[in-house]
Amino acid sequence: MFPLFLTFKKWTALYILCLLGLFVIFGAILWRGSAVNVSRSNIVLTPDTPVLIIDAGHGGEDGGAVSGDGTPEAGINLAIALQMREIARLAGREAVLTRETDISLHGEGAQTLAEKKREELQNGGAFCNEVPDGVLISIHQNSLPEFPTTQGAQVFFGPAEGSEALAQGLQERLNATVNQREKSCRPIGDEVYLLEHAECPAVLVECGFLSNSEETARLKDTAYQTRLACILVSAAMDLTGGG
Ligand SMILES: [Zn+2]
Repeated sequence: MFPLFLTFKKWTALYILCLLGLFVIFGAILWRGSAVNVSRSNIVLTPDTPVLIIDAGHGGEDGGAVSGDGTPEAGINLAIALQMREIARLAGREAVLTRETDISLHGEGAQTLAEKKREELQNGGAFCNEVPDGVLISIHQNSLPEFPTTQGAQVFFGPAEGSEALAQGLQERLNATVNQREKSCRPIGDEVYLLEHAECPAVLVECGFLSNSEETARLKDTAYQTRLACILVSAAMDLTGGG
């Protein structure tokens, strides 16, 4: 009896091992089949729709507006812009960034901060106008220290044809999602070089107020940045064709 029992245990163990092996193989097949492959080469881009040109405002020495806890807007702008590009590309829309790291777009010759700023904006503008069929979305954060409770996202538009309609559409989506009070989009005025000189539809999104500590905490949160990026990209895609 004893040797027979051993044999039985051996076969049972082998059977269980075979079953486990099969589970592992099937599991691997299922995982490979369902995994989302985000590599660039596997994404089918929609060719006949405008390229989203995403500008992360400021960068390098110019951090832009700064929150009460010392967070400059440049880093938040870049984080949202990078997410927007990935979301757009995953959805099949070509998207390019004016900057991908914490740099300024100025050249070697610019010395003072004012010169660097001017050159950065001019280079950004030239970059935008080199894209034959583009839509510019510039990402910024607002600040109004004298009104620390003011919050919400607001869209501004440049003079190029199509800018106002794009701004209105984006503003409606932001009002319906992240804004506690409705805001209206507004023309930007000629002080923002990038929008003023863009030849394509161009908008600037002030995603929130760094002068509001509660909104600053949200704007620094990666999940909220993803939410903003999704809202802006999906709205921009709906409004500029390609769905
Ligand atoms: Zn800014």
